[in-house]
Amino acid sequence: MDQGKIPQATAKRLPLYYRFLENLQASGKHRVSSTELSEAVKVDSATIRRDFSYFGALGKKGYGYNVNYLLSFFRKTLDQDEITKVTLIGVGNLGTAFLHYNFSKNNSTKIDMAFDVQEDKVGTEVGNVPIHHLDDLEKILDPDVTVAILTVPSSVAQKVADRLVDCGIKGILNFTPARLSVPKNVRVHHIDLSVELQSLIYFLKHYPM
Ligand code: ATP
Repeated sequence: MDQGKIPQATAKRLPLYYRFLENLQASGKHRVSSTELSEAVKVDSATIRRDFSYFGALGKKGYGYNVNYLLSFFRKTLDQDEITKVTLIGVGNLGTAFLHYNFSKNNSTKIDMAFDVQEDKVGTEVGNVPIHHLDDLEKILDPDVTVAILTVPSSVAQKVADRLVDCGIKGILNFTPARLSVPKNVRVHHIDLSVELQSLIYFLKHYPM
């Protein structure tokens, strides 16, 4: 199907739906209503119905959606059958946590190798992921790796990002507070945990539920 037709907001929710449906299938359920989905993924059911209509999944009244059909569709759309290899740069506290976590609940992405500059970390493994020296990035980064997670100090983030881009990285998940400049064909998603936390606290204070 033409992925260009799925609105970005819908595309962003697909992994959320996917994870929940996988759990449903594992527990032996074959159908799900939009209300049930809505409660589980915290997206209102009208939005879910609209999202699903983009890919031709029209729920039947009194039946809901067929779990297997949706899953096979999502698998194709999200390329879940293929593993996306990811690299991580900066094995500090946050980086170490990601390596241990390694998205094991989502078997389509895997951190394959990590890089750092600290000699005592280089040559070791964290969560079964080998840590290499950043000096060797260009030499050993697998050309199949197109996504990088950035958990270095913000002072070096841009310099590291430039090198990643030169290596052919197409997507960077930036956990540093630094705003990165990258060429147009590279996508950066920025997650600043302290800003997110502050914003949550602000909303709690000023817009109580
Ligand atoms: P975190 O923010 O991940 O909790 P931390 O406080 O443990 O970090 P930081 O000083 O933020 O440590 O550094 C994160 C990691 O990035 C460290 O392991 C550090 O050795 C590594 N690092 C520092 N400079 C670079 C660099 N230029 N390239 C790769 N890794 C680097």
